[in-house]
Amino acid sequence: KTAVKSDIEIAQESKMKPIVEIAKKIGLEEDDLELFGKYKAKLSNEALAKLKTKESGKIILVTSINPTPAGEGKSTVTVGLADAFNRIGKKTMIALREPSLGPTMGIKGGATGGGFSQVLPMEDINLHFTGDLHAITTANNALAALIDNHLQQGNELNIDQRRIVWKRAVDLNDRALRKVIIGLGGPLQGVPREDGFDITVASEIMAVLCLATDLKDLKLRLSRMVVAYNYHKEPVTVGDLGVEGALTLLLKDAVKPNLVQTIEHTPALIHGGPFANIAHGCNSVIATQAAAKLADYVITEAGFGADLGAEKFLHIKSRSAGIKPEAVVIVATIRALKMHGGVPKNELAKENISSLTLGFANLKKHIETINSFGLPVVVAINKFITDTELEVKTLLDMCEKENVPVSLTEVWEKGGAGGIELAETLLAVIDSRENNFKSLYDLSDSIEQKVRTIVQKVYGGKDVEFSSKAKKQLIDFEKFGWSHLAVCMAKSQYSLSDDPGKLGRPSDFVVTVREFKPSIGAGFIVALTGDVMTMPGLPKKPSALNMDVDEDGNAIGLF
Ligand code: ADP
Repeated sequence: KTAVKSDIEIAQESKMKPIVEIAKKIGLEEDDLELFGKYKAKLSNEALAKLKTKESGKIILVTSINPTPAGEGKSTVTVGLADAFNRIGKKTMIALREPSLGPTMGIKGGATGGGFSQVLPMEDINLHFTGDLHAITTANNALAALIDNHLQQGNELNIDQRRIVWKRAVDLNDRALRKVIIGLGGPLQGVPREDGFDITVASEIMAVLCLATDLKDLKLRLSRMVVAYNYHKEPVTVGDLGVEGALTLLLKDAVKPNLVQTIEHTPALIHGGPFANIAHGCNSVIATQAAAKLADYVITEAGFGADLGAEKFLHIKSRSAGIKPEAVVIVATIRALKMHGGVPKNELAKENISSLTLGFANLKKHIETINSFGLPVVVAINKFITDTELEVKTLLDMCEKENVPVSLTEVWEKGGAGGIELAETLLAVIDSRENNFKSLYDLSDSIEQKVRTIVQKVYGGKDVEFSSKAKKQLIDFEKFGWSHLAVCMAKSQYSLSDDPGKLGRPSDFVVTVREFKPSIGAGFIVALTGDVMTMPGLPKKPSALNMDVDEDGNAIGLF
């Protein structure tokens, strides 16, 4: 057997159909599309408006165990599962996040699935795509420039320049920009102050764009964003500056979802990609809802593990947009479960039943959590070629003992054909198991109580502690009328606790909330635990070192 092909080799050998043809499958005409070349298109405003009155299909959420360096393959399973649904005659679409360039040039690997379960054209999607992220970067930085101009021109709003919370953004991993001093050089060069950069996907504008239901809602959310505090320590918003119209204008096309296809020509909407720590980590509401109107089933994904991505999908996105998922797929790999059971990364290829059994505790917790939301669960074991027969059997048996439906998927190796059993299991579950979807907290609970509920019910922790700074902030938030907002937890993705070293299923831990960060436009209060990176750095050998392009313009080395 020849060596395993890389994702990009498989992608480049696949033959795409014109996007106009893909659109026809879901009842869209060429007039409904705004074409970006032959294989990418945005849905026009008219097309989106027409969909509003249509009935919605069923939404299936894909999440995973706590990620490890061994890899889980959520996007791969999302894509392969949708291909499998179409193979068995169910009209199905995908809704996925769009990748950020920072991690692409760094270490992450693509965000377009893998093996024979990928969305195409993967080079474009992983690079500039249709320019949404650039538009968001520009809107973010236009706002920053307008704030500094406000200071320069007399500062009518009395903005305390030491309390400006709006940062600049760039869609790259650039650690040298984390903290900067701007405005140096004298009175004509602006007001000197300390500033900093976040990666674009951490900009509140990304979260806002992904929760907005249309242009009007986008503008309203943008106007509510807090950019600074004045000398009376009261919030100053975009609305106070009067620039929500300009920002919305810059985003008028970025707000439309992008249509592409999988290797097997399943239609996919790829749109928006907020961080899953300081934001809610799911593709746009507009894309999910449009996909649900266009197809009978939508397979969508949330970032990181079920403790972060799924919790936020269910508490933040679903509540804000009125979305009710039919079922949740939890992706697990035997390699990752063995890591949760204590096996180091370089020993994962060896069979290890006792570590797999130990590591299963992590998966079990996530199953319990999703069930506590009243939702049916199916476990998808994403098969790696190194998994042994006994390991697979052990994991299947453990799931059966928990009475949770489980399916071995081979979508990475076989495309949709490798996911048919999973698709059938899922359909049976949707038909037979009860769905009593409910939120674990009420918006009327106090912010402290909302955080405590998540820590105890979703993470399995003992309690939560708040720093004195965090407690002081809560008093202000009450005053500003922010206590009714949802909570967005910024926590390590690697552990159920706030300590990335605690794998498996830790218990008896206390989570510490260091600080809160209000995202009023998005509509949530971020609770920061541990160190949260909003501008990542590059590793010693960034993946950029492998990248190239040939004389015909073909990408090389994009994973
Ligand atoms: P996630 O969405 O969980 O971050 P992805 O689906 O993006 O994971 O997959 C990450 C990487 O792992 C991709 O490069 C993909 O090709 C690879 N991968 C996923 N599943 C498998 C598998 N079963 N065998 C080998 N490689 C896989």
